[in-house]
Amino acid sequence: SMASPALLMRVVASAYSVAEKAATIVRNVMSAGDLGIVEKAGPNDLQTKADRLVQMSICASLARKFPKVTIIGEEELPTDDVTEDLIEDGHCEEILKKPCPAQYTGIKEEELVIWVDPLDGTKEYTEGLLDHVTVLIGIAYGGKAIAGVINQPYYNYEAGANAVLGRTIWGVLGMGAFGFQLTEAPAGKHIVVTTRSHSSALVNECITALNPDHVIRVGGAGNKIIQLIEGKASAYVFASPGCKKWDTCAPEAILHAVGGKITDIRGNSFQYNKEVKHMNSAGVLATLRNYDYYASRIPNTVKESLVP
Ligand code: AMP
Ligand code: MG
Ligand code: MG
Repeated sequence: SMASPALLMRVVASAYSVAEKAATIVRNVMSAGDLGIVEKAGPNDLQTKADRLVQMSICASLARKFPKVTIIGEEELPTDDVTEDLIEDGHCEEILKKPCPAQYTGIKEEELVIWVDPLDGTKEYTEGLLDHVTVLIGIAYGGKAIAGVINQPYYNYEAGANAVLGRTIWGVLGMGAFGFQLTEAPAGKHIVVTTRSHSSALVNECITALNPDHVIRVGGAGNKIIQLIEGKASAYVFASPGCKKWDTCAPEAILHAVGGKITDIRGNSFQYNKEVKHMNSAGVLATLRNYDYYASRIPNTVKESLVP
């Protein structure tokens, strides 16, 4: 008889379904029309009803199935008033059928940390830039991002009423990433993707120093990693604090699963153990290919301005 699937694969299979439920909530809140916007640190740091409901849905659903896993979500919320309609108990059967990479078969619940960004790109969500929005569920073991799910609730929303709306991308280190078509960026062109709503003098100075052929300004860390793996951009460059561990965990796992690389602007890798500081204070540098080309061109003055 078949051995029962490894814990990691059960967590990823559940996270897949939980992220699809999250996407439904994101779309339903928007179509109901009352976003319930709250300012957190300021006008560029927002929370909506969708951020709140989705975080409750994801965290409560995963905690119910995997009670000993540490789950860290972006939003500070009371945990006691989660209604039953927010719970998702399904899983993706196709993921469960795949063999777990050998190095992860022995993982126990208490060794996993799940980083949840219920809605990445909230500013853009409130401005109707709906395809910038993603739901991020990152899974870490031994301080490393090893698996992730990125749901894009409004994928295809400009393709017309008959197009299937939304998609779920997932990946595991040593296994690969699925739910999209891996595409290289145009050869010999330097296309930088960066923030749209959190720019600064330093962010712009760093991009100028790279002398790119083109700069794409879009919201969301998840969205920017999608731009890399689909060949729309060759580097994600963000020389600023602001991005947090829940923004980078799922994207990092998926990018690394397809051979890419993500670090801070100074070249340090991110850590995802439960005690780690949430802020990625030294920014983000990510590529699918040619990481060294971009890393070697970041000015020392920019690196020295960012303290990890
Ligand atoms: P962006 O590329 O501007 O969409 O940022 C990627 C992620 O980092 C999003 O979750 C943002 O909310 C977060 N972020 C980046 N910069 C800041 C900032 N200055 N204040 C608050 N959140 C930020
Ligand atoms: Mg975010
Ligand atoms: Mg968020």
